[in-house]
Amino acid sequence: MLNLPTYDDVTAAAARLKGHAHQTPVLRSRTADERLGASLFFKCENFQRMGAFKFRGAFNALSKFSAAQKKAGVITFSSGNHAQAIALSARILGIPATILMPQDAPQAKIDATRGYGAEVILFDRFQSDREAMGRELAGQRGLTLIPPYDHPDVIAGAGTAAKELIDEVGSLDLLLVPLGGGGLLSGSALSARSLSPQCKVYGVEPEAGNDGQQSFRSGAIVHIETPRTIADGAQTQHLGQYTFALIRRDVDDVLTASDVQLVEAMRFFAERMKMLAEPTGCLGFAAACHAGLPLAGKRVGIIVSGGNVDLRRFGELLAS
Ligand SMILES: *Cc1c(COP(=O)(O)O)cnc(C)c1O
Repeated sequence: MLNLPTYDDVTAAAARLKGHAHQTPVLRSRTADERLGASLFFKCENFQRMGAFKFRGAFNALSKFSAAQKKAGVITFSSGNHAQAIALSARILGIPATILMPQDAPQAKIDATRGYGAEVILFDRFQSDREAMGRELAGQRGLTLIPPYDHPDVIAGAGTAAKELIDEVGSLDLLLVPLGGGGLLSGSALSARSLSPQCKVYGVEPEAGNDGQQSFRSGAIVHIETPRTIADGAQTQHLGQYTFALIRRDVDDVLTASDVQLVEAMRFFAERMKMLAEPTGCLGFAAACHAGLPLAGKRVGIIVSGGNVDLRRFGELLAS
């Protein structure tokens, strides 16, 4: 039996994060409200430390380490925001960090992770299974493995963003959340179910890799090949055990957005709201614009989950 995290774990995480994570702003846009005939509340985790909500889960998980775990250190596998979140949290808490990253990860991300003081071990992602490698190294070196999404403390930490949003603006009719492995969605659903029980909660994943939608609708975790999409934060191949159980229990449906729709949302954020969101961070707004949800007159929360996009890449995407 899985011991699923609860909303109490989210409130405990919020207390641990106080003074360490930013309380990110909730932005509004009259233009977006008028276009959709709704009241939209954008929770801007692109302004979180290291540029994405992942700091919340990583810091919460590392804060709970025992003295012995802290001394031995943490290990994780990630090419993206979770790597930087663990590296930064570990530095703040004085914990040695080892990060497994694919050889072909962008140099900027490898440098940023090393810049936070973590030891980066590169691997060939076509040859090796990163999860198995992580577990093996953890065993050999006595490190604690904190995976990117399927962990109760990571889920509870991620849920603090939706908690802050609803605490600030009041109850919502709908909440739209980017979906990769499901840590953000399941944590958000815990908060929404407790703070705004009537709120419908939707996950949004890239159209090219709708394993979450298939899993949600079929009732079993579906595995897929790494999807080809610009939403690199949501290129996961499957949901986790914890996240799947919570999503099945607390989420209303899983929707998808295409890469073209993500670029359109990125452009809107840049042009109209003067902010930089990464493609994965745009999933919620893209679904609000295109998924055909009945939004008229509704209060809609949208989690903008991150803003880490290389500027050259950003330019290329907007030009295309
Ligand atoms: C990791 C990530 C996601 C997906 O989060 P999961 O917990 O894996 O579902 C969404 N957006 C950004 C910016 C991310 O870094």
